[in-house]
Amino acid sequence: AKAPVNVTVTGAAGQIGYALLFRIASGQLLGPDTPVKLRLLEIPQAVKAAEGTAMELEDCAFPLLQGIDITDDLAKAFDGTNVALLVGARPRTKGMERGDLLQANGGIFKPQGRAINDHAADDVRVLVVGNPANTNALIAQANAPDVPAERFTAMTRLDHNRALSQLAGKLQVPVSEIRKMTIWGNHSATQYPDLFHTEVNGKTAAEQVEQEWLRDTFIPTVAKRGAAIIEARGASSAASAANAAIDHVFDWVNGTPEGDWTSAAIPSDGSYGVPEGLISSFPVVSRDGRWEIVQGLEIDAFSREKIDASVAELAEERDAVKELGLV
Ligand code: NDP
Repeated sequence: AKAPVNVTVTGAAGQIGYALLFRIASGQLLGPDTPVKLRLLEIPQAVKAAEGTAMELEDCAFPLLQGIDITDDLAKAFDGTNVALLVGARPRTKGMERGDLLQANGGIFKPQGRAINDHAADDVRVLVVGNPANTNALIAQANAPDVPAERFTAMTRLDHNRALSQLAGKLQVPVSEIRKMTIWGNHSATQYPDLFHTEVNGKTAAEQVEQEWLRDTFIPTVAKRGAAIIEARGASSAASAANAAIDHVFDWVNGTPEGDWTSAAIPSDGSYGVPEGLISSFPVVSRDGRWEIVQGLEIDAFSREKIDASVAELAEERDAVKELGLV
């Protein structure tokens, strides 16, 4: 039998945590042959709620679930961890300045980066979900100097999946007919969902939709979908965010299908003019357990401007957290 994989989830008692943990325990994160041990990290006042979720996990009697530890201690939470899903974060509240938001999250992701550095397994993979995800990932990565930078990633897979679904609806095709969708940049309103390399029925998607739709409907609908969900549901997206986290890690571990790619925010190597080190979303494939940026795509003036704007925002966030001494 395979050895169990240690999976740490932070913010385990939250909405996304509730949607995520059952899917991990059922084998959807790593595959149906891989047993898992869960480590749930919460802040002290939420540990009891996490214990409640753990009781429900026990009551599912998942054959692959080999243990659940619940803690508010970082060293315990990340001890020997192979996959760390950093979900808990400090949300932006009304009237909060960006500096305050980054400072509050620095207080979370800096010590978590250090704890991952000191305690995680050598093969640790980190996915940051908690917002501002790209910059939180950068903070954690910068504070884990002994872990290869490429192991720190942030989630743009939900944006990617939203883009697939919007396009499928527009073209009246199943999502399975769509290849090579790309989200570029920051997981924020400046993100750029790119249809110029996306393939549907052997042609690019961009030439099968009106340019007005692409510019004035598709891009803003994808970028503002989170707000639309809050408006409709009265709560932010949770199950779809958890689903995207599952997709991201599954593909990272198991590889992306031949002839397709996906989107993930990973440390830039300078590709496509994105400054080295920024954790920015790219078209990526996963091979042998590593993300690789798809190379050689032609970027037209329209896309260039959109990518540059989102990357400029990431650079500003990086400069702000640098000034705060967080990276
Ligand atoms: P959720 O579980 O709904 O969200 C958690 C984080 O995911 C938020 O930062 C949220 O950002 C982010 N997120 C990223 N993408 C999405 C998306 N597409 N849709 C929705 N959210 C997204 O928050 P809850 O408040 O229910 O739970 C958070 C939990 O984290 C609490 O239990 C809290 O105690 C815990 N926590 C734990 C910490 C720790 O373990 N050290 C530290 C801080 C909090 P956004 O707010 O921008 O939507």
